Amino acid sequence: MTEPTFAGQVSRWYEQNARDLPWRAPDVTAWAILVSEVMLQQTPVARVLPAWQAWLDRWPTPAALAGDSPAEAIRMWGRLGYPRRAVRLRECAVAIVERHGGDVPDRLEQLLALPGVGTYTARAVAAFAYGQRHPVVDTNVRRVVCRAVAGEPDAGPATRPADLAATEELLPAEPAAAALASAAIMELGAVVCTARSPRCGVCPVEASCAWRASGQVAPAGPTRRPQRYAGTDRQVRGLLLGVLRESTGPVPHRRLDQVWADDVQRARALAGLVTDGLVEPVGETSFRLIGDGPPAPVVS
Ligand code: SF4
Repeated sequence: MTEPTFAGQVSRWYEQNARDLPWRAPDVTAWAILVSEVMLQQTPVARVLPAWQAWLDRWPTPAALAGDSPAEAIRMWGRLGYPRRAVRLRECAVAIVERHGGDVPDRLEQLLALPGVGTYTARAVAAFAYGQRHPVVDTNVRRVVCRAVAGEPDAGPATRPADLAATEELLPAEPAAAALASAAIMELGAVVCTARSPRCGVCPVEASCAWRASGQVAPAGPTRRPQRYAGTDRQVRGLLLGVLRESTGPVPHRRLDQVWADDVQRARALAGLVTDGLVEPVGETSFRLIGDGPPAPVVS
């Protein structure tokens, strides 16, 4: 009998152990998968779950989001963090309506051409929404492949073409099986082969893992510390955005002045929000979320 391949072992484990996440349901739309991939890039699953559902309840299609304002997208994004993603997701929805009649495209080059859709997201949508064979490489996948195949503890700096090639080599030839394997390797990295505490004892590829066989030499570099938030410009931006999100019209400068005592840092944070296309000045003395007001008409 043929030995199961790496992908076969991980896929079988996934079928029995995958977390029950709503964007993995068989009837979920490509749009819902695209939204989940954008939200999950920098936000943990537990925080994404309610936000994803609320987003899709309000905007179940790209056309629905495209017909609303960027300000509303920022409001709905709430406290997921990195709110540029909300604006880019709306721009993406507009492009899907204008270029593809409102349907999320299934060809990789068309996905890659959408605003805010990069190498990872395009391949994730092509694989998970359309069952295609593409290497889908995020941090978790890079770590699993690095450890199990190369025997190295950490993936190190991103080397995109090499990562894609190394992962693609592991995928079965049949597209649906390859898409399943992509999801499975990612899940293994998220819940078993974690950065700090890999649970090799329950890992489906323990017997063949190169890093396990080498005696698991600990990473040579310093352990990364969690990023500080308190007192940073990110915190000030979040406070300013919080006031603007909760207002239905322009907010006077003096109201924004109350959120943070340091004039220089507050001004820098506000200028950053304007530069990033999240906030716009209204006259000389007020600010509002970008495009806050009647939605611009969208031609489909
Ligand atoms: S055996 Fe351990 S290090 Fe190797 S892939 Fe599994 S969890 Fe990761």
